[in-house]
Amino acid sequence: MTRKQYDAILIGAGSVGAPTAFSLAEAGVRTLVIDKAPSVGQGSNKTAIGGIRATHSDPAKIRLCLRSIEIFATWKELHGDEIEWYRGGYSFIAYREQEERILKALLEIQHSYGLNIDWLDKEALLEAIPALNQDGLIGGTFSPDDGSASPLLAIHAFYWHAQRLGAEFRFDEEVVGIVVENGRVRGVRTNKAEYGANVVINAAGAWSRQVAEMAGIDVPVMPDAHEAAITEAVARFLDPMVVDIRPMPGSSNFYFHQHSTGQIVFCITPSPSIWGYDTRETSSFLPMVARRMVDLMPRLKNLRVRRTWRGLYPMTPDGFPIVGWSREVEGYLLAAGMCGQGFMLGPGLAELLARLVQRDLAPGDHEVLERLSPYREFEEQEKLQ
Ligand SMILES: Cc1cc2nc3c(=O)[nH]c(=O)nc-3n(C[C@H](O)[C@H](O)[C@H](O)COP(=O)(O)OP(=O)(O)OC[C@H]3O[C@@H](n4cnc5c(N)ncnc54)[C@H](O)[C@@H]3O)c2cc1C
Repeated sequence: MTRKQYDAILIGAGSVGAPTAFSLAEAGVRTLVIDKAPSVGQGSNKTAIGGIRATHSDPAKIRLCLRSIEIFATWKELHGDEIEWYRGGYSFIAYREQEERILKALLEIQHSYGLNIDWLDKEALLEAIPALNQDGLIGGTFSPDDGSASPLLAIHAFYWHAQRLGAEFRFDEEVVGIVVENGRVRGVRTNKAEYGANVVINAAGAWSRQVAEMAGIDVPVMPDAHEAAITEAVARFLDPMVVDIRPMPGSSNFYFHQHSTGQIVFCITPSPSIWGYDTRETSSFLPMVARRMVDLMPRLKNLRVRRTWRGLYPMTPDGFPIVGWSREVEGYLLAAGMCGQGFMLGPGLAELLARLVQRDLAPGDHEVLERLSPYREFEEQEKLQ
């Protein structure tokens, strides 16, 4: 059977796939992107709340997200599209000594990677976030260079420019098999056709385990359901994304920010985790999260919630992404398990994937690839999931 040939085939047009198509096309790599959904960003991308930070606990994510922030922040200037980038910063707040200790301990590594982040005591934090509940507040970190953007507008911008540069997209088409000959990738089989390429990139998000199995590879990515919501729009009163990492019944943390168009967008990390592909929203989420939010920021009680939804984190056992070439099948590249940070990792990771495909790594890439290797032990735990 003759297959139309490409240099690289990307499975998934999501938070990772769309910017990767752009970076590959920009590098002159003939790229085909295949997604089973009817249009771009219909997997987890459209459920993200748009937070973008480089303030992680791990050097690989820090490096990738520092680059992502540069790309998001300069996108409009360089490419013309409005993606609603807003540099409002991030603040991890502490009302108890436990959280203060955890956050202060992380500052050391964050500073060693050049991150602009500091500890603010109660008074200084209240200047940055006047609406915070003062009772019991100890302080918090503040990283003014972090921010947010619209996942919808950003993914469409990557998609549009990838196409402009020659990347081809096929929607409503599901990859059902990987063509492997003599231990080497030769292409993919979909429910409609076959396509040839010597490089296949698995960017299938919460479905990447099944897509890896098609090549006989085991990748420990599990769908982990998280709910979110959005309020009506109001005049700006809140700059940073506020993250509260205190575990409470039903949730291990929650975070919210005011989008550049005025709405408060928020979500929680459920505890225990809710595994599976069920994305129906629940009646328990809003009462639980509303109580936490109003306690933290009493003036939020006046806001009306417009909509809730539920999406999937492509979760890994240690909370870090899985990135790198397969050792079992030559030419099979994994870009999976983005957990709760695929939107912010996307553009920086996309450039790394393009360098991997071109076999032209930059200084610093080796450290990232070692940390995110598919063959690591998965023993560490990400501290700022
Ligand atoms: C409530 C919530 C809030 C979040 N907030 C943030 C945030 O503030 N910041 C942040 O960075 N991240 C956030 N995330 C996480 C983020 O949404 C994900 O990490 C990210 O979208 C994953 O990107 P991806 O490209 O790996 O997967 P997706 O964006 O899901 O893309 C994968 C694509 O693969 C396609 N696919 C799967 N299988 C096949 C197949 N066999 N054939 C063809 N196509 C296939 C799917 O249709 C899908 O479009 C949030 C997630 C949730 C649920």
